[in-house]
This record gives sequence, C-alpha cells and structure tokens, in this order.
Amino acid sequence: MDKILITGGTGMVGKAIKEIVKDNSSYHFSYSHEADLSKYQSCYDLFVKYKPTKVIHLAANVGGLYKNINEKVDMLEKNLLINLNVVKCSYQFGVKHFIGCLSTCIFPDKTTYPIHEKMLHNGPPHISNDSYAYAKRMLEIQCNAYREQYGCNFMCIIPTNIYGPHDNFNLTDSHVIPGLIHKCYLAKKNSQDFIVSGTGKPLRQFIYSRDLAKFILWILNNEISNESLILAPNPDDEISIEQVAKRIAKEFNYPDRLTYDNTRSDGQYRKTADNKCLRQLYGDLDLTSIESGIKETVHWFQNNFQNCRK
Ligand code: NAP
Ligand code: GDP
Repeated sequence: MDKILITGGTGMVGKAIKEIVKDNSSYHFSYSHEADLSKYQSCYDLFVKYKPTKVIHLAANVGGLYKNINEKVDMLEKNLLINLNVVKCSYQFGVKHFIGCLSTCIFPDKTTYPIHEKMLHNGPPHISNDSYAYAKRMLEIQCNAYREQYGCNFMCIIPTNIYGPHDNFNLTDSHVIPGLIHKCYLAKKNSQDFIVSGTGKPLRQFIYSRDLAKFILWILNNEISNESLILAPNPDDEISIEQVAKRIAKEFNYPDRLTYDNTRSDGQYRKTADNKCLRQLYGDLDLTSIESGIKETVHWFQNNFQNCRK
C-alpha cells in the first residue's frame, strides 16, 4: 500500500486535502515543528520515519504581495532550502510520484496571455515577488533534472491564487482574499472605512482550496506524469480586486465604506493562466463559484476568529 507524505500538511491546502481523503491511515500530514524541512537532517529524518512512496510537497514560506515585497531574503532562502531537501530526499528514498507546488504568480511579468505551462522561464518575474518566484522556478528545474537524469516521476502543479478555510488571515502578510476578509470584519466592527490596498484594478484568477485539493488527489491517484500542470479556472473567470472586495463587503453586509489606498502597490496587473491541459485530462472541472467560496470562507473566519491564523 502507498504511503503518502504531505509536507505543509497543516496549511490551507494540506487541511483541505485532509478533509476530503476518506481513509487517512496511509497519509502523513507534516508541519514545521515536526520537521523543519529547510534543514537537510531534519528532512532526512522525516523520510526515515515515514518512508513515503508518494509525496505531495506543499510546505513553503507563503505570503501575499506585501510579504513578497518585504521579506525577499526569507522568501528566497527558505523556499530554496525546503525544496532542495524535499526533492533530494524523495529521490534518495525512491519516491515513485512527487508533486511539487508552484504558482501562476511566478510566470514572466512581460508576457502574452493566457500563460501556459511551457512559458515559465520565458522572462523575469514581476519585481515585487522575484525572490519567491525564482525559488519556485528552481523547484521545477530540479524536478525536471531528476526526471531527465534518473527517470523519476517528479512533477509540478501550478495553482492560481488559492483561498479558503484555514488560510492565513494576517493583515500584512496574507494574500488578498483572507487579508480583505479580516480587514472588512474589523472595519465593520469598529465602524471604519474598509480600505483596499492599491487601485482595485488588477485582475486575478482564484481557486477554492477544496477544488484544488480535489485536483491534487486526482493527480496523485492517477500518477499523472506531466512535467507541470496549471490548476486554474477558465481565463474568462478572471476578476478584478475591486470585484473581490465588493463581494466580501456584501458578505459582511458592509458595502458603503469601501475605499482604495492608491499609495500601495498593485503588483502585477494580471497573470491570466490557461487551463486547457487540465480540462483535456480531467474533463468538466465543476468548480466552486467565487460567490460560494467567499461566502464559505467568510463564515469559516467568523466561526473560527479566536483560533485562526491572523
Ligand atoms: P500555508 O497555509 O501558509 O501553509 C504552509 C505550510 O508549510 C504549513 O503547513 C507550514 O507548517 C509548512 N512549512 C512552512 N515552513 C516550513 C518548514 N521550514 N518546514 C516544514 N514545513 C514548513 O500555505 P498554503 O497556502 O497551503 O500553500 C500550499 C502551497 O501552495 C505552497 O507551496 C504555496 O507556495 C503554494 N501556493 C499558494 C498559493 C496561495 O494563494 N496561498 C497560490 C499558489 C501556490 P507550520 O504550520 O508548522 O508553519
Ligand atoms: P498575488 O495574486 O500573488 O499578487 O498576491 P495577493 O493575493 O497578495 O494579491 C495582490 C493584489 O491584491 C494586489 O493587486 C494588491 O494591491 C491587492 N490587494 C488589495 N488589498 C489587499 C490586501 O489587503 N492584501 C493583499 N495581499 N493584497 C491586497
């Protein structure tokens, strides 16, 4: 029977996977206090302990635009080290299927749209997240090196902006949806403006964590062997940050105090990704609508306010 190691198992995506696997017994969901994967020995010891046959590698130093701008050294070094160690150990322990996790935010800044899998290295990333992007790009290079030299089935998934329960709702470090949910919650509580960073004009595709978990488990169970695979909604499901903010304000029933702080960076204007490969392999994606996803996430945040990451 396969033994599946999920690194970053306590994060938003790891928790979403945990919620949908029927039989948990063959899965191990690891986290940083059990094994700091940026340290080789600690990573090696985890592999000795669990001897996985398959690995879903989610562990990473993760954050939104402003964390990427402010913490470039950690975004580069931690992610390079974590990936280096986890892929190397996966090879050393004979892992037969490895799924690494990239992001559509690491694609070139100046590009044509929609972006597809083969365009990852066709130009520099946006300056705001170059450290994170180059560290993640190296994960793809490393997986491909193991594929070519040793014939390993090591592949990478490329999700768009992910949101859902168990996300990081920190006001400065988080991604846009959890950040705005927390801000709107506080604005309403204190009868203040709900301030969105930037102009609200940038466009993004979003994927609900449960939908992403469904695709990851399908890739795992079918041992999909693409080099990399974009996991995204359709390009025409892209929406503006303004639409996201209005949706969140509506969910809190606090629509009238929405303002924009134009002094803050917008980041990359768009990152529209092509999901053609995914649709060809998977068929009908049957995705959660952004309305339902935000509704569920807002409710989860309100119900878990005391103990959630924030
Ligand atoms: P998350 O909620 O921030 O969780 C990160 C996970 O990584 C946690 O389990 C954390 O463990 C673990 N981790 C961090 N540093 C570690 C270390 N040094 N050693 C061992 N474990 C460590 O992340 P997520 O949002 O679920 O993201 C999952 C994956 O998707 C990541 O690879 C991320 O780059 C990618 N991704 C995310 C987004 C997004 O919008 N969130 C978009 C595209 C791609 P602790 O809980 O112990 O800290
Ligand atoms: P990205 O999709 O990788 O760029 O990362 P984010 O999830 O952080 O989204 C960044 C976009 O959302 C930028 O256009 C920001 O200006 C905008 N934004 C608006 N308000 C916020 C906020 O409170 N937090 C974050 N992270 N982004 C915000």
